[in-house]
Amino acid sequence: PESFLSVRDLRVRFSTEDGIVKAVDGLSFDVERGRTLGIVGESGSGKSVTNLTVLGLHDRKNTTVEGEIVLDGKELVTATEKELEKLRGNKVAMIFQDPLTALSPYYTVGRQIAEPFMKHTGASRKEGRARAIEMLTKVGIPQPKTRVDDYPHQFSGGMRQRVMIAMALVCDPDLLIADEPTTALDVTVQAQILDLLKDLQQEFGSAIVFITHDLGVISDMADDLLVMYAGRAVERGSAAEVLRSPRHPYTWGLLSSMPRLGGSIDQALTPIPGSPPSLLNPPSGCPFHPRCTFTGEVTGDRCGTERPSLGEGRSAACHLTAEQKQTFFIDKIQPR
Ligand code: SF4
Ligand code: MG
Repeated sequence: PESFLSVRDLRVRFSTEDGIVKAVDGLSFDVERGRTLGIVGESGSGKSVTNLTVLGLHDRKNTTVEGEIVLDGKELVTATEKELEKLRGNKVAMIFQDPLTALSPYYTVGRQIAEPFMKHTGASRKEGRARAIEMLTKVGIPQPKTRVDDYPHQFSGGMRQRVMIAMALVCDPDLLIADEPTTALDVTVQAQILDLLKDLQQEFGSAIVFITHDLGVISDMADDLLVMYAGRAVERGSAAEVLRSPRHPYTWGLLSSMPRLGGSIDQALTPIPGSPPSLLNPPSGCPFHPRCTFTGEVTGDRCGTERPSLGEGRSAACHLTAEQKQTFFIDKIQPR
């Protein structure tokens, strides 16, 4: 299958007063057309930085980017700002956690939805307005013909998120990057927005990169899954496989710390001990080793000295043997 977005050995470093932050450290992944890749990790794992870099939205002054980002055959790491601008909002669009950062308070939502459409297609104002109404209808805004002239503050949080989705999809992008799009919303609205995204993906056929810290959301949305830790991918596979039988202690920890639907209330949740490492001075060897409860099972000091690598396809970057993983966690995860 042809991958629409292909990222190879991506390294993103920021220079700060305190030193160099290795925000992304050798990351590779692919996204196919019409499929959803979930990227999961705690904050600071590099998941948002990766996607800002794909869009060329990172701070160019203090950032070094190495590796390859190929979108629809075009190399983006070396692309000019002008070339990137042509892609953004057109071939690739993004939705964020907070619509207010993406929407201007000073213009009507209709104008803001129409703008990228007019810019990329050369449509007239009248056509732009008609398209905005069409998009508001698609994302389920009631009375779109009236609401098209309203300003963002006149919408509720969930409705604003719908407006942002309308704006992102107005040019029929091939790739939609959604960074924690439902995190700020209450559970009911969150479920509605996720359903909407799934329906729209059916209709538009776009590839989606769905970034979240929430494994519950990902199980609902993603076909494939990439688990990130300390700027690296530690596990990948189909979402169903990874969630059913994780192979990396970090993924296992995330799943064990998650409340289970229908689980009893006093069911003990086990949070992962410690906190994510500083990327100014990442741990040697396996970046997870200071927090990992399984290091003792690995022969010698490999976890502290030798960086485990992630293979292609279904794999985990961990020194444990397949049998050890089987004994330690596969049997402990209940079917979800
Ligand atoms: Fe834990 Fe070692 Fe595996 Fe890293 S390589 S996840 S420290 S067992
Ligand atoms: Mg983030």
